[in-house]
Amino acid sequence: MPNAPSTPALIDIDVVRAAALSCTKCRLAAGRTQVVWAAGNLEADLLFIGEAPGFHEDREGEPFVGAAGQLLDKLLGEIGLDRTKAAIVNVIKCRPPSNRDPQEDEIDACRPYLQAQIDHMAPRVIVTLGNFATRFILESSVGITRARGRKYRRGEATVVPTFHPAAALRGGRFGGISPIDAIRQDFRVVRAVLDEPPPQSRHPVEEVVAASEQLDLF
Ligand code: SF4
Repeated sequence: MPNAPSTPALIDIDVVRAAALSCTKCRLAAGRTQVVWAAGNLEADLLFIGEAPGFHEDREGEPFVGAAGQLLDKLLGEIGLDRTKAAIVNVIKCRPPSNRDPQEDEIDACRPYLQAQIDHMAPRVIVTLGNFATRFILESSVGITRARGRKYRRGEATVVPTFHPAAALRGGRFGGISPIDAIRQDFRVVRAVLDEPPPQSRHPVEEVVAASEQLDLF
């Protein structure tokens, strides 16, 4: 679980990025073309968190550049946003071989980079795309089908879990709804939260309500 947000002024994100770009802390360094740090605007109020780079991301060095990225851009446009209004990152910064699932020790090794990105941004809204990001942020083993459809608190951030756009491309139905319809529902929630007046204080450090505790309520 990510720690409580720290004071963003203490985070020099350029230093962290430089460290990430030459990182060899886990086995994924051996097979990558390049580290995939972030896309979009790391000063924005909105942060999307995906799983790990795929083939195209590994080649181009940017998250969500393939078909899933195009769908994400389309869905963002439907709520009046684009990549200048959001940052897009992954839990894991290097491509796992053959796009296999990230392993627990790889997630742990890469955790400080995502934590630094979150701390630097102190986003108003965090959208977790799919199981890995949702479990990382909610500190829970719950799957996305069960987690989505609700908002959670993490510090001052509102967490909105939804399906990964790749799931929408695969089709099917989960929990009685198609992933694409679910994402559209969840994105309307994102838009509504962003349209609320901004909180007085952006960066509290004293209290975080664990999202896993909220899940236990249901
Ligand atoms: S996945 Fe993360 S921890 Fe592993 S080598 Fe890449 S940047 Fe480092």
